Amino acid sequence: MSSRRSTLFSGLRPSNIHERFMLEAIKEAEKAIAKQECPIGCVIVKDDKILVRSHNLRLTRGNAICHAEVLAIDKACRKIGDFRLNDCDMYVTLEPCTMCAGAIIQSRIRKVYFGAYEPKSGAVCSCNDIFNVAHGHNHQVEYEGGILEEQCAAMMKDFFRNIRIRDRK
Ligand SMILES: [Zn+2]
Repeated sequence: MSSRRSTLFSGLRPSNIHERFMLEAIKEAEKAIAKQECPIGCVIVKDDKILVRSHNLRLTRGNAICHAEVLAIDKACRKIGDFRLNDCDMYVTLEPCTMCAGAIIQSRIRKVYFGAYEPKSGAVCSCNDIFNVAHGHNHQVEYEGGILEEQCAAMMKDFFRNIRIRDRK
């Protein structure tokens, strides 16, 4: 299974800068898979360079807030020495949840690019539109979904299918 997945993504040629950064987020998600974590990866980009990388570590850390996005924001703030990440963009493989969308607003990230839509808990546009109802925060986060959507969605699907197979044994 893992060999099929790596074949799938190593052969991928990004056709623009957004796909290039999303591919880096996918690589992070693959690190999460190796740790039996749900495959969600994230990078934060500043001045067209990757500032920080992270992946979901909820099980590893035994901590509900250790989503890829929150961990990336934490790392980026430490690195920059400021809670404001105004000139930074985030690339994340899955549409952020309510908690992460809130953290994104608080850290004033400029734009979020996500891969797969999350119909059950996505807080950007699928189940909620936190960025748009957050006008009172006087920071408007822009977003664009569906970057390498097929690959990002396939990772999630594979992960949950493998869990179902494992649970059946
Ligand atoms: Zn989250």
